[in-house]
Amino acid sequence: MVLADLGSRLRNALSSVESVSETEVQAMIKDICTALLESDVNVRLVAKLRDSIRNKIAQEIKKDTESAANKRKKLQKIVFDELCGLVDSHEEPPKPKKLNRAKTSNKPTRPGKKSVKKAADSHVIMFVGLQGAGKTTSCTKLAVYYKRRGFKVGLVCADTFRAGAFDQLKQNAIKSLIPFYGSYLETDPVKVASDGVKKFKEEMFDIIIVDTSGRHKQEQSLFDEMIQIGEAVQPTQTIMVLDAAIGQAAEGQAKAFKESANFGSIILTKLDGHAKGGGAISAVATTQTPIVFIGTGEHVGDFEVFKPTSFISKLLGIGDIQSLMEHVQSLNLQDDENHQKSIENFKEGKFTLKNFQTQMNNFLKMGPLTNIASMIPGMSNIMNQVGEEETSKKIKNMIYIMDSMTNAELESDGRIFVTEPERIIRVARGAGCTAVEVEMVLQQQRMMASMAGAAKNMNAAGGQAPGVG
Ligand code: GDP
Repeated sequence: MVLADLGSRLRNALSSVESVSETEVQAMIKDICTALLESDVNVRLVAKLRDSIRNKIAQEIKKDTESAANKRKKLQKIVFDELCGLVDSHEEPPKPKKLNRAKTSNKPTRPGKKSVKKAADSHVIMFVGLQGAGKTTSCTKLAVYYKRRGFKVGLVCADTFRAGAFDQLKQNAIKSLIPFYGSYLETDPVKVASDGVKKFKEEMFDIIIVDTSGRHKQEQSLFDEMIQIGEAVQPTQTIMVLDAAIGQAAEGQAKAFKESANFGSIILTKLDGHAKGGGAISAVATTQTPIVFIGTGEHVGDFEVFKPTSFISKLLGIGDIQSLMEHVQSLNLQDDENHQKSIENFKEGKFTLKNFQTQMNNFLKMGPLTNIASMIPGMSNIMNQVGEEETSKKIKNMIYIMDSMTNAELESDGRIFVTEPERIIRVARGAGCTAVEVEMVLQQQRMMASMAGAAKNMNAAGGQAPGVG
């Protein structure tokens, strides 16, 4: 689970605040700072965050006149925003565009006439990073990500240093049906890179991804090679692949690559493991470079777009309804009437039990559950405690519970169970579970409904971050 330990410690620190007394607030700040430091976040950044939280609390929370509930909300929002600030570089990476093939296509020339192929204005992405960081894997993941969105993508293997690198990229590319270029004979990575990019440009590819070689450690020869390949292929975007598990070393590594390869984006890999991740977070802050994607496993689909607010929401276990809805939308469920109804309700700030039932059924289709669970408020806690298989059982159990409800109950906001608690017993009997389990479904639906309300308010207020809890 992504930075699971840090997440639960931050959550505990936040939820330990009740009356928002001076002592409680100081203890909370101390706990948050300790958790960040122990997750390898740079001490300088932690000190800055501590001072900033203190300043904002002094400015925004009026000691005497506000209710404890109000103060708690403000406090949580301050901490949420500061944590987002840690992973948000406020830089926008360049976005690839589809080529206008009708205008620029290389038409076949008449026989006897010499063919001069025009090079298209493709989006060239060069990958850099140390060996083992996950470059080759992430190249394919990114290629598949863009292919699914209708881009014509080609992969170039310019890693002539590591034996087997071309075979690895080739196998990945074949599996994912991505055109690729590489050479078993050519030993000059600059030549392979420029030949591959030239070929794909002539063939009107929208995006060309160039995988380069790494080394076990930072070496001048690697940086020289990066500079030469960069000069040869003139990348539109250079992405550094950073292993989240390397701790404090990430910052120095990112700085060194920044000086030579001047990358503009980061892909953070292996966030599925036991990575503390704080070192990588510090690297983002120090180099002021946005993380664009995160790798959450070895498979091609274990890849997520990185958004600071979503990431922190998940870390704090408050769910990320926006991502969840986007994810569900990507399933092409336009013809599913129940799904459309959920979306409409959600936009209006509502979320009935029926909507919850529909979405839970969709989750089982979406997989992997680890990713989905982290988007649902309260669900990541369950996932952390019991793992994928058990969570799948729990979700199915929740669906059985909702299947045992009447239509009127499903179409309600759940309050019907508060006024008529005997309904809970009936549903529990129908689903073959305990009343407590039914209560838990109702509680979760209430959390989703309050997130829907918060998202509606957020949109109305121009996109503020949601409150925690
Ligand atoms: P490269 O040397 O930088 O090209 O690294 P590779 O792409 O060969 O990856 C090194 C190892 O890390 C391989 O075993 C990959 O399967 C694994 N790997 C890459 N990304 C991830 C990730 O996000 N999560 C996990 N668990 N493993 C990953």
